[in-house]
Amino acid sequence: MSDIKVPFIDLQQRFVEEREELMACVERVLSKGHLVMTPEVFEFEQKVVEYTGAKHCVSCGNGTDGLMLAMWALGIGKGDEVITTPISFVASTGSIAHVGATPVYVDVRDDQNIDPTLIEAKITPKTKAILPVHWGGRVADMNAIMAIAKKHNLKIVEDSAQSMGAYYYDKHGGTFGDAGTISTHPLKNLNAVGDGGMMLTNDDEIAAKVRLYRNHGLQDRDTCVMYGVNSRLDVLNAEILKYRLTRLDDVIARRRRNVSIYQDKIKAKQVYIPPVRDYEKHSYVMFIVQAENRDALKAHLESRGVQSLVYYGTPLHLHPAAKRYGYKRGDLPVAERMADRVLALPHHQNLSPEQVAIAAAAVNEFYGA
Ligand SMILES: *Cc1c(COP(=O)(O)O)cnc(C)c1O
Repeated sequence: MSDIKVPFIDLQQRFVEEREELMACVERVLSKGHLVMTPEVFEFEQKVVEYTGAKHCVSCGNGTDGLMLAMWALGIGKGDEVITTPISFVASTGSIAHVGATPVYVDVRDDQNIDPTLIEAKITPKTKAILPVHWGGRVADMNAIMAIAKKHNLKIVEDSAQSMGAYYYDKHGGTFGDAGTISTHPLKNLNAVGDGGMMLTNDDEIAAKVRLYRNHGLQDRDTCVMYGVNSRLDVLNAEILKYRLTRLDDVIARRRRNVSIYQDKIKAKQVYIPPVRDYEKHSYVMFIVQAENRDALKAHLESRGVQSLVYYGTPLHLHPAAKRYGYKRGDLPVAERMADRVLALPHHQNLSPEQVAIAAAAVNEFYGA
């Protein structure tokens, strides 16, 4: 093991940078003595409404809960099929399974997002919704997906977990469909100090239902109108997220700068960087390249002090948990091929241009480029 020169994540450095403001958040919240569903939570939701342009933001315990709450509110459950992508974190499919519905996978494009041209062939009388994922922070091709949903009368739930600050034709990720959910997990761009999330919607009824579901279905302290769950955003995290939202654009700008250094410096033809189209604004929660001989590249980077991570080596349809859905290797060839090639390079906002240049040079060195 050589010394780490370019760390993949650095939340400690982030703490150094933000220490004063974070401690002030702790002080403000704890001194008031109220820690559940106080005005701080609703103020944060209002700030997200202003930032994203969604009509409603309903905060909740995490991004996965947001997906489940949204599907419950839309009446998606047993017997329903939900069309989704095999390239994501397992929660995209897990949430579908947990509401009792069946995921139906559609292969991806070279940018790793669901391929809209393959969706219609998978629609059956049981299809209730499409759940696209804006993978890495690039919004899926929503114009095409919305047109299909409209034609076949399907709901859309966007897994926009990574989409804070991501846009498609100037519209914010998570605001296209019936509902979109955001995660504020510590590894996302807008991150809490622990788990957190929210659901965005333009629909008054969905917002009202999810507000009830996330807090036991309680209309007031004494009246439960439907049974819900406990999925509330902590007050301390709401206060921290409110502060961090003011810094989000700067965080993304620094990440984008680092990505552009990679784009300039990586010369190896064996590394494919999916281009960002002019109507896309990528939020760069992750910077994922597709590389030949990926595992050896990763080991080489490690030997040069450059950390990298595989997101992910197994597409969702090939996990043991997905066995019951009956997929096999070969069913989704693009996603399967990518699983052997994807590698996320370190690009976070606390890396200097010099550090990114070291990582890019190590990539070129591996391929002799
Ligand atoms: C992070 C993430 C989730 C899960 O969010 P949590 O807040 O960790 O529950 C779901 N989908 C995608 C695409 C994610 O990146």
